[in-house]
Formats: sequence, C-alpha cells, structure tokens
Amino acid sequence: MSEIVPGLYPSSSDPLNRAFWEQCQDGVLRLQRCDACGLFRHIPRTTCPSCGSHAWNWTPVCGDGTVFSYTVIRENYMPPFQGLVPYVVAVVKLTEGAQLAAALLDVVPEQVTLDMPVKVVVRDVQGGKIPFFIPA
Ligand SMILES: [Zn+2]
Repeated sequence: MSEIVPGLYPSSSDPLNRAFWEQCQDGVLRLQRCDACGLFRHIPRTTCPSCGSHAWNWTPVCGDGTVFSYTVIRENYMPPFQGLVPYVVAVVKLTEGAQLAAALLDVVPEQVTLDMPVKVVVRDVQGGKIPFFIPA
C-alpha cells in the first residue's frame, strides 16, 4: 500500500477523512455504506444522514456517474495540479447516489456539460493514489 502524501490530502488529521484516503491506496474507490439502510455517503461521517445508524462499512463503488456541477480551475500552484491548468473539478453524482468532487481529466473544459457521463479512475500522484474522473 502506498503512503499518504503529506499536504496533498485535505484534513488528513481527521480519522474518517484519513481513512477515506487510505481506502484509495489500493486503487479502488470505496465510500461509506450504511449497514442499516444501505445509503452510500460522502464526505465521511460517523452517522447516517438518512436513518441515524452508526453502523457502516467501506464499500467499493462502480465509479460510474454523471456531472452534477463543475468549475474550471485556471490557477493552481500545487504540484501536480499546476501542470493541468486549466482543468475541471466536477461534483459527480455516482450511480450509487453519493456525490464526490474530483478533478475531471482527459477533457478540455469547453467539452464538459452537466449530466455528462464520467467514470472514476484512481491514479498515482506523487507516490499516493487519489480519485479522478474521466469521460465515460
Ligand atoms: Zn442509514
């Protein structure tokens, strides 16, 4: 398993957030799934927002989804993103229902549309793995 890269992952001091990033290190995107009602959720939290259960597991998702919203990043001085500008960060509604924000690669910003089909790819970045989306 790769090491978490200090500074590249947001709020890695939070145990649940850090666990999310650690889950990505084998190249599979997993989200919390409620053991009681089956709801997938993201951002990681202790309690199900639907039924209030505290029982959950990290569960792999298929990674397919559609663009719910997006913005174009035109300046980013943090490696490796400085080499990507301009690029899109999209909020993607996954098939499982949860939403996840990540950079959308392999497409020029002008080609991105709402409801565009995308799929997740977990790529190595500076020795750690993080999820991105690409057009489906
Ligand atoms: Zn629930």
